[in-house]
Amino acid sequence: MCGLPVWIGIDDTDSYYGGCTTWVAAELASRFKDRLLDFPYLVRLNPEIPWKTRGNGALALKLSSLTDEEVKEVASFVMAAARDEGKSSPSLLISWGGERQERFAVKAVRDVITKRELERTLEKIGPTSRYFLKKPGKSRGLIGCIAAINHPWSDATYELIAYRENQSYERPEFRDDVLWMDSLTAPVTFANFDREIGKPLIYPHGPDPVLFGIRGEDPRVLKAGMMMLGNSSSLWMVFKTNQGTNEHVVAVNGFAEAYPYRTVSIDARVASNPAIVSGGHVVIGLVDRHGSPGQAVFYRQTGNLNHVARRIMKGDLVRIWGGVRPEAERKVINGQGLVLIAPNTTYEEVPSCPFCHRKMREINAGRYICDRCKVEAVGRARLQLKRDIVPNRIYQPSASAFKHLMKPAGRRPIRTPQE
Ligand code: ATP
Repeated sequence: MCGLPVWIGIDDTDSYYGGCTTWVAAELASRFKDRLLDFPYLVRLNPEIPWKTRGNGALALKLSSLTDEEVKEVASFVMAAARDEGKSSPSLLISWGGERQERFAVKAVRDVITKRELERTLEKIGPTSRYFLKKPGKSRGLIGCIAAINHPWSDATYELIAYRENQSYERPEFRDDVLWMDSLTAPVTFANFDREIGKPLIYPHGPDPVLFGIRGEDPRVLKAGMMMLGNSSSLWMVFKTNQGTNEHVVAVNGFAEAYPYRTVSIDARVASNPAIVSGGHVVIGLVDRHGSPGQAVFYRQTGNLNHVARRIMKGDLVRIWGGVRPEAERKVINGQGLVLIAPNTTYEEVPSCPFCHRKMREINAGRYICDRCKVEAVGRARLQLKRDIVPNRIYQPSASAFKHLMKPAGRRPIRTPQE
């Protein structure tokens, strides 16, 4: 199939002990840079998948052509670079057109793809594709390969990743340069620096070849950002990615649709005041529009978001989004963000005596008496509440708790000349 545009999909080549699938793609993209038809794609798949190693990233390259000899060269390079420890299933898919599999690709970001669905899709793309597995029979990595190749780009950001040659040294971190770069390029770049704790966010901490990654809206600004950091690394690559787009979030009508391993957004009434449990995590009881109960948990690690969740009150109408826990008996959402849609502004309480200001005692339903002054009152006291959460503002985790797919509040996509 020489001379036809060709897709290369790669997934699952890393492990907890090292490697990085973006590095494998960056090496191939440099090798075939004259034939690249678009930026290499870095597609983040469902972040709730329990068998991911880290960020559930899958990679794809679109080239103008590849000879049979080059197909073999690509396959041996990818298979040699792939780590084979653990439960990984390093996979490579080479595809010459054929029917697009966009539904599969979107499902891989938002839901779970079953083995059966993978097999059916492989049958469909079989005549125009070839695949290679590092471990015979271990084909799960092909899910990521198909998803990355077929990803529909309704929204996109970019990440410039620079690689280090020697992984045995600690990464040098240039805190002040990152801060300077952030102040000159944000919000066109984002997630560079956590100003609350004074730490750069562009450096990973694992045993992988990534030196740093700058995320943002415009590849030209990412390159300027790299220069501001004085990068001397010989290998760097700009990837087109779905990071920062919230593509993983599915809006649902009620808790009945909050399936495990999905990230859902749900509007619900707060049924109980926040409970702060051991570790500082916040648990909020909710009821959806059909009256079905559920809960949201805001972990201490989410920083700002955890602090805002403490100030939510019974009676508030909220929008909450986050990953659904795989629990059969209850619907629990691990909160990634919240909006206060309609705050509860009144609070009812046992009335106080107008003379001695002590709380009155209930004598029977809705009637109260002050035992000391013998004054009676009917009905509970209604107080106006002043709330310190701004309605309709998006509250999110602190910068250091931000995950790849989460969309920074206020992010405004810009179009680049390449699109
Ligand atoms: P990276 O470190 O490159 O960011 P990762 O190491 O966290 O990613 P992978 O090593 O790619 O994740 O492992 C994830 C595995 O799960 C891959 O085999 C991938 O094909 C598979 N997978 C990803 N998304 C889904 C999904 N929605 N349904 C089923 N399997 C999936």
